[in-house]
Amino acid sequence: AVEIEGVSKSFGKKEVLSDISFLIGEGMIYGLIGPSGSGKTTLVKMIVGIAAPDAGAIRIFGVNVPNLELLEKVGYMAQADALYTELTGKENLDFFASLYPMKNAARKKRIAYAAGIVNLTAELGKRVSAYSGGMKRRLSLAIALVHNPKLLILDEPTVGMDPELRLSVWTELLHLKKEHGKTIIITTHVMDEAERCDIVSLVREGRILATGTPTELKQAYGAKDLEEVFLKAGRE
Ligand code: ATP
Repeated sequence: AVEIEGVSKSFGKKEVLSDISFLIGEGMIYGLIGPSGSGKTTLVKMIVGIAAPDAGAIRIFGVNVPNLELLEKVGYMAQADALYTELTGKENLDFFASLYPMKNAARKKRIAYAAGIVNLTAELGKRVSAYSGGMKRRLSLAIALVHNPKLLILDEPTVGMDPELRLSVWTELLHLKKEHGKTIIITTHVMDEAERCDIVSLVREGRILATGTPTELKQAYGAKDLEEVFLKAGRE
């Protein structure tokens, strides 16, 4: 579904991504795992098409990024919330949903569904300026989902959420994958979230240290968890 080929990016003299290549198959949850500053957000922005690589190419569903054709097919949740804080949650969802070609009835249904998934239905009438950080994250996730994209790209989606909500978001992501065949790219530095991904790439200082299923990686490195894989792979 997503092909990343020889992607590099520098800011000034600092190389943030060095010759990154990997392939993400359809219908899976792919985790980009790495510490703060490792280059995950930069990579994700290039996949979404809002930043351009210096070298290399990215294709989604066979189409070169950026391409307007992909707008409907991709849902993106940025690391920083981009919400209209003087509007209510419902108005935000309505606005973003209206950017896509959906009939009124379908739009209403999608808004109700997306709000339900993140457990925000009861708070939709409130202004976003009165939302907590976690509520804003939940609204951003609902917005990423509202047009029913085939590919979801989520940059640290569960930051600021309590454990119960984290769990319910993950249950929903697994459901979206299994029942609706969605492909999900997720960045996180939380290792127990990494363990839930089908495939992970461990990213450090703009390079991919290792890629595989969490089980494969733990076996290959003789590690008890991905944290230990990270340490061992980093030493090589
Ligand atoms: P975090 O989770 O903290 O966002 P990350 O893994 O997503 O970390 P990036 O945000 O991609 O990392 O940043 C990678 C590196 O690139 C950092 O050193 C950051 O300072 C640098 N960087 C990112 N964007 C810019 C920019 N626009 N100009 C200059 N440097 C940048």
